[in-house]
Amino acid sequence: MIALISDLHANIEALEAAFADLDALGVERIVCLGDVIGYGASPREVVELVRARCQVCLLGNHDAALLDDREAFGFNERALTAIDFSRRALDPEQERNWAIWDWLGELVPAMAVNPGNGDEEIQLVHASPRDPLAEYLMPGVTKTPEKLKANFDAADHRLTFFGHTHHPGWFAEGAEFARATDDNDRLVLEPDRRYLINVGSVGQPRDGDPRLGYALFDGQTVRWRRVEYDVAASRRRILDADGLPDSLGERLLAGR
Ligand code: ZN
Repeated sequence: MIALISDLHANIEALEAAFADLDALGVERIVCLGDVIGYGASPREVVELVRARCQVCLLGNHDAALLDDREAFGFNERALTAIDFSRRALDPEQERNWAIWDWLGELVPAMAVNPGNGDEEIQLVHASPRDPLAEYLMPGVTKTPEKLKANFDAADHRLTFFGHTHHPGWFAEGAEFARATDDNDRLVLEPDRRYLINVGSVGQPRDGDPRLGYALFDGQTVRWRRVEYDVAASRRRILDADGLPDSLGERLLAGR
């Protein structure tokens, strides 16, 4: 069993609750699909916990923007403000932060991994198969089928797991997006079918459900978890932070 987490966005309360849930389930293999920082108030704590607990971590577009301003092209004002906040919190001038910058600098936005003994290799990307760092495969992308088809064509594995949109669910090739919800929290893979699978977001869900989300995969079945965490504390930390817009705290309450 492997756990796939993504889009932690410097939300330490959510990440600690996700790891507590994984500990209770006895899951030790954890991969992170990127966007460790951005939006939230605890970039240092989240980076350090990911480094301690995840075997693999990808580069997300917010992580890339922290490393290089040019990658922030197209970011909205709130997102840019949060990148500045993260850069101050992880001040690269300070020697105690150098290991964090070295670690961030090694991350890549796509990687193939073998989830377990005898299982087929799976592809991990932050955003999409053809643009692993930045393209949004939103639930409504099936309205532009050529965009979705181009991504299935670009996928060099049968199974691609991604994050980035903060909307958990899946595209089976040839079908609409299936949203993962409490009533639809399991995908039993059909043999020979191709899938693009969104694991959801730990730190800033946007599907109207404020509970943190992530996915488990055992080689045959993907299962989505939603777990309550102390959203109020996470919101409060953003409101108290010097230089983060309050709206980034408020949106956590709504899960938008
Ligand atoms: Zn994100």
